[in-house]
Amino acid sequence: MEVKVENIRKEFGRFPALHDVSLDIRSGELIALLGPSGSGKTTLLRLIAGLETPTDGRIFFGTEDASEKSVQERNIGFVFQHYALFRHMTVLDNIGFGLKVRPRAIRPPKEEIRRRAKELLDLVQLSGMEGRYPTQLSGGQRQRVALARAMAVEPNVLLLDEPFGALDAQVRKDLRRWLREIHDRTGHTTVFVTHDQEEALELADRVVVMSQGKIEQVGTPDEVYDFPNSPFVYGFIGQSNCLRVQVDHGGIHFAGKPLGMAAAADKHGEAHLYFRPQDIVLTSTDEPHLEGHVTSTRRVAGTRHVELDLGNGAHAELELSPEQAASVDPKRIAFRPTRWKLFPV
Ligand code: ATP
Repeated sequence: MEVKVENIRKEFGRFPALHDVSLDIRSGELIALLGPSGSGKTTLLRLIAGLETPTDGRIFFGTEDASEKSVQERNIGFVFQHYALFRHMTVLDNIGFGLKVRPRAIRPPKEEIRRRAKELLDLVQLSGMEGRYPTQLSGGQRQRVALARAMAVEPNVLLLDEPFGALDAQVRKDLRRWLREIHDRTGHTTVFVTHDQEEALELADRVVVMSQGKIEQVGTPDEVYDFPNSPFVYGFIGQSNCLRVQVDHGGIHFAGKPLGMAAAADKHGEAHLYFRPQDIVLTSTDEPHLEGHVTSTRRVAGTRHVELDLGNGAHAELELSPEQAASVDPKRIAFRPTRWKLFPV
């Protein structure tokens, strides 16, 4: 189901946790809310669930205004970081719980609940464990049961709040891939909260980058990584360089020297030039370039990271391919950014 968040503001006392947030979530999409601690991710998730009421703004499920609807009426599936499964219930009973507590008129028969719970157990690859109790499962297995339980009620939307946050790195990675596969098979509209950029970029169809109660950017993982639209996104996702430059008649200059890069003709004055360490071309010193002496270098997986002192108190980090690394002077490097963006100072 489509979910539309329209001009939502949420205040706690006088404190605005969300300012005028709007977001269209497409039916069947897996969307990640990514941002630092306190940026408002959980608040937005809880508003979609109906666990909080907005100070201003509306939330639509499909074409229906759900703003006044209760959590039950919205039919949400929830998985939290520390999802407390019922300790005294078996795995199968935990999964079937949401169906079992439905009002009689819409409750499936006992056998049907059992059949559906077993089907979901297969889906989350825990067949054979139906008789176990939560304490007899690993953390990763418990979260898989929690997901099966959330899906059992055929929710309109699945909301996952750092579901793998408490698990160790390798289990997290495995579950991430597994969640993507499950999503591709079941197609539930899913909103996933994380502060881990790798998790968001690997898992989501689209990433919503949040900071200080606002949405900074919404886009596919490629869009937010390759074309950040703000200094915050440049800094928060991946590595980036920031240099103070001068813009004059459409040309960009660093320390008085032209860089051979064109800015909008109407821009003049000081600006910040952002670029990623790998988005550069090595140049000769005969053409416009940036140049610095190498202060340190290290190998990271298949690439070489080089730190440069560009003079004037400016530094840059470059990420060179093995071929580039083999071709440069180990002491001094001339280069030019190929993909970059200017922001006001
Ligand atoms: P984290 O990654 O740490 O969970 P988050 O991005 O999910 O952070 P929220 O939990 O949405 O952030 O919180 C956003 C802001 O709203 C924070 O400054 C938080 O202190 C505040 N806040 C959240 N819930 C309440 C509440 N019930 N009462 C008062 N302030 C709150």
